[in-house]
Amino acid sequence: MSYSEYLRAKMLRDPATGMRDVSGLPSALFPFQADIVRWALRRGRAAIFAGTGLGKTLMELAWAEKVSAYLGKPVLILTPLAVAPQFIDEAAKFNLQCQRANGQSDIAQTGVFVTNYEKLDRFDLMECRADPTAAERQARYRARKKLSDTEWYSLREAVFERDGYACTYCGATEDLACDHVIPLIQGGTNDMENLTTACRSCNCEKSGRTPEEWLAE
Ligand SMILES: [Zn+2]
Repeated sequence: MSYSEYLRAKMLRDPATGMRDVSGLPSALFPFQADIVRWALRRGRAAIFAGTGLGKTLMELAWAEKVSAYLGKPVLILTPLAVAPQFIDEAAKFNLQCQRANGQSDIAQTGVFVTNYEKLDRFDLMECRADPTAAERQARYRARKKLSDTEWYSLREAVFERDGYACTYCGATEDLACDHVIPLIQGGTNDMENLTTACRSCNCEKSGRTPEEWLAE
């Protein structure tokens, strides 16, 4: 291994995990605000550290509205005490949706809600985050994989490296996951030959099928 290869192996990689289609943002956003919101939506796990007066509340509301529409789930914004009403005012001013919530029973299926940190214990955040079966499915998948997270991440990194950080099904280079070619559920193994780089969208579409079964559909 050359020194530059060694450095490359140590490089931190954090592929975007967010949305692809980030069009249709509220017209109330200035172009620089729209740029920031689009960046955050594409990134997935993102933080906007914008200075005072740059319109963080508006950007957060626009972000939240898109995320709620995309996932079909509610978004709960937590603020310091007395800041929640500012969100409501700001939303009304720009014709964006945002409702005050005092507890889980105020949260609807979708939409943007705001509360203050002091009320955090009145909300079931797991309920907000995902459908209840998601955690269970993930636990079953982990058990089948029979590898620790650390072992899996280093194996996954080796697969990405071998495949040149591109989806072997469609060539996408963002939002990559490691796919079991023969799915675990069908008796596939964790051997390198049975692992391939897949973008999240191909990975989800293929799901528990072999490539042949997937393409035959
Ligand atoms: Zn793909």
